[in-house]
Order: sequence, then C-alpha cells, then structure tokens
Amino acid sequence: MNKQLRQAVIAGNWKMNKTRPEAKALIEDLKPIAANATCGVVICVPYTNLETAIELTKGTNIKVGAENVHFEKSGAFTGEISADMLTEMGVEYVIVGHSERRQYFGETDETVNKRTKAALNAGLKTIICVGEMLDEREKGITEEIVGMQTKVALLGVTAEQLKNVIIAYEPVWAIGTGKTATAEQANEVCSFIRQTVAKLYSQADADALTIQYGGSMNPKNCAELLAQPDVDGGLIGGASLKAADFGVLLEAASK
Ligand code: PEP
Repeated sequence: MNKQLRQAVIAGNWKMNKTRPEAKALIEDLKPIAANATCGVVICVPYTNLETAIELTKGTNIKVGAENVHFEKSGAFTGEISADMLTEMGVEYVIVGHSERRQYFGETDETVNKRTKAALNAGLKTIICVGEMLDEREKGITEEIVGMQTKVALLGVTAEQLKNVIIAYEPVWAIGTGKTATAEQANEVCSFIRQTVAKLYSQADADALTIQYGGSMNPKNCAELLAQPDVDGGLIGGASLKAADFGVLLEAASK
C-alpha cells in the first residue's frame, strides 16, 4: 500500500563507459523508449557526457545525473568537480558512495556524508549507495553494515532535504557479477533501511523515501525485484548501456 506513496525511479549508472558519439546514439535510442514511462527516468553519465546528455534530453522525461561530486565548494582539489559546477550545467541528480568509489577510491562513510550534504545543499537529488560485501553477508552482519552506512550518510541531513534523497541498496557481491540478490533478500534489506530512516526521521518521511535495489538487475529478473513492496526502482549498471534492456526495466517499474 505504501508503495503508492513514493515514485519508483530507474537510474542508469553508465560508469566509465561511452564516448560522446556513443552517448549521443544511446540517448537518441532511449528517448522514444522512455517516453511512456511513468516511473522516474535518470541517466547518470560520465562528466564528459553531461553537457551532451542535458542538451539531448531537453523537453523529455529523462533526467541527467553525475556519478560523483566533491564536497568542497571550490579550490585546490585537482580532478574533482563541485556540486555548484553540476547544478550550473543543469544536472539534477548525483550518485554518492557507489561501492566502486568505496572500494577503489578510498570513499568512507564520512566522505559519503560530506558529499551527500554538499550535493543536497546545492539542490541536487542525491542517490546514496549502501550495501554489504559478500563476507559481511556471510557473517550475518548485513543489517549492521547497511544500518551504519545509512545513518552516517544522513548525519546532518534535514527532513526537508531527505525529500531529495534516494537510497540505493546495492549488495557489493551483486554488482556487475551477474549474481542478483533474490527478490526476498532485496526487499528485506530495503525494508530494513526504511525502518532505520523511520527511526531517524518519522514513519511518514520513511514511507515517502524512494529506496532502489541495484546489482545485476536486468530484463529477466526486474519484474520480480520491482514488484517487492519496499523496492522502488533500481540503480542499473550494465543493463543501462543498451536502450532496449533499459526500456524493459522502465516498463516493469511503470506498472
Ligand atoms: C551499479 O553500478 O550500480 C550496478 C548495479 O551495476 P550492475 O547493474 O552492472 O550490477
């Protein structure tokens, strides 16, 4: 029942893929496919494709996001991009705390929190990624890990700002591996995240929060995952790189 209280959002995470001509071709293919979706449609693209994506999606239902953002406003941070630089371009969404950033680029719960606050303060809709590693699941500490990641990421985030937050539950062992969490496992953790948010804010705030599942979601497994009561869409890697596959996910999330 509460599922009606929030919008399902399918967000593509292109990662380090697509040159500008390739991005242009994919977006042109995606536009007619996405046009009938009633779920939110977001593509998070490499920085080099943001301008192309914003230009090509003007007047469509496709929103554009970045894959990361720095927490400082400006200064000597070679290679980084600030939230103001993104909003000035017309970027609406940003992913923070993706497990690849945590694994390969030293991202911690504390820096995820800083990035979250910087993004929200600049008015960006912020997709915060949380999720356990395989050994953490096997040790039975999934809830401790995901609970802590969620709580630290949201430190200092107001209830008003929470309206611009999406949480993506992405078990690390399921990302890009072809191994999907079962629909029950995905729902169990998404529901746990909602309870955690309810304790931090209120039940109404938690009921209004979009919580996505991410991890090898594809045209074959999406219907069952997206039908779960606490799964409100998905953060999609591999299957966001082909317009037809992404289209199947949009259709499933629009039901
Ligand atoms: C992701 O990058 O967030 C992701 C879920 O990737 P994939 O769908 O390829 O597992």
